Amino acid sequence: MRILKELVAEKDSTDLGKELHAFVVKLYPICRSITGDGLRRTLRMIQDRIPLEVTQVPTGTSVFDWTVPREWNIRDAYIKDAHGKRVVDFQESNLHVLHYSMPVHATMSLSELKPHLFTLPEHPGWIPYRTSYYKENWGFCLPDHQMLALKDGEYEVCIDSSLEDGHLTYGECYFSGRSTDEVLISCHVCHPSLANDNLSGLTVATALAELLSRMDLRYSYRFLFIPGTIGAITWLARNRETLGRVQHGLVLTGIGDNGGFHYKKSRRGNADIDRAVEHVLRHQGEPSEILEFSPYGYDERQYCSPGFNLPVGCLMRSVWGTYPEYHTSADNLTFVQPSQLAGSLQVCAAIVDVLEGNRRYRNLNPYCEPQLGKRNLYRSTGGESISTEINARLWVLNLSDGEHSLLEIAERAGLPFAAISDAADLLRENGLLAPVADRKTGAAPEGSSQPNPTKVPQRKQVAALD
Ligand SMILES: [Zn+2]
Repeated sequence: MRILKELVAEKDSTDLGKELHAFVVKLYPICRSITGDGLRRTLRMIQDRIPLEVTQVPTGTSVFDWTVPREWNIRDAYIKDAHGKRVVDFQESNLHVLHYSMPVHATMSLSELKPHLFTLPEHPGWIPYRTSYYKENWGFCLPDHQMLALKDGEYEVCIDSSLEDGHLTYGECYFSGRSTDEVLISCHVCHPSLANDNLSGLTVATALAELLSRMDLRYSYRFLFIPGTIGAITWLARNRETLGRVQHGLVLTGIGDNGGFHYKKSRRGNADIDRAVEHVLRHQGEPSEILEFSPYGYDERQYCSPGFNLPVGCLMRSVWGTYPEYHTSADNLTFVQPSQLAGSLQVCAAIVDVLEGNRRYRNLNPYCEPQLGKRNLYRSTGGESISTEINARLWVLNLSDGEHSLLEIAERAGLPFAAISDAADLLRENGLLAPVADRKTGAAPEGSSQPNPTKVPQRKQVAALD
């Protein structure tokens, strides 16, 4: 089974990109926050595509050093001038309000209003995205040129919001594989009309989950659709006992813009996920960069906190905070490109292929090279240079001593993982290789007659051999 092959065979990149972008378009208008109806509506729309278990955690619940906040909902917000005209209107953009604003309805002078106005002077036409989750405040965000045009006088200010006891909501999609060991894919779903920062990640994660739902999988997969920071902290607090199952993890975010890929390594720095992503990015043909772990960023901060130190990295295109559109109204539907979304899903599929296919084998014929020609596994005419396929077979045979994983072989050979994995499949079919039991769990290798006894029942019949 090859997930990327399946994806490419299913539809061409252009159609895939259009489909992914259409989902971003659908989600874009919703006013999401770390709690509230917009977040729940977003989860319902994801639930229309994949099986999602939705959890509601009450306000006031202690989660490690944090407390689940009150729930925020907003119906309307505006600033009206002396003629009753809305000069700032939440109905035009949900970015116009400071998110988590307290309700307010008052008339005030421009000088009283100004401390509550947020603009971006360096980009005077854009609305900044600002929040005040943990400090009571209210405010409006608007283009700088719009603020400068406000004349002295009285303004009617209204934020029709509520900040009340309620719930923090998150969604979880789980597929059981042959092993209870898990791959964790996490994305935040708490930003309002921002396309790259939140919608690109959740769209690619949803599509990846849809794709994996049809596959026979080695690992179990858990997709988290959570509000940033407090959502990850809440999920970790509620799942502390089973975190040992997480063998590999990825935070997906900001993967729809025109930039090249960036991968921020896990805190461990040399986890399998770090090596798998580095390998895939090196071979996928677009520019890419590997970043060392740092304790600031997205929810990898929580997964990689020292008490957990989970092997979770973060896959992005442009890095948050480094592009001017970040956290502004310019992170819109044109900032996110269909082709980039499709490319990101393909890279995610290739990463999963490495995780799924990376294993150790033993060469069953280790005394000199086996004669490949008599098995039709070598070129027919001597003297020609060998193809990538044959080169991959020789590397797999030589390094399959039970110690080297296929990923290590691919790295050493300088060949893409898929070429090495295909070679291993072929050599195995020809009786030249045998899989070695997983070192960590001692579980019988795939294809042997002893399935992992602890595994969760499968939705699909497990194939005897890939
Ligand atoms: Zn953000």
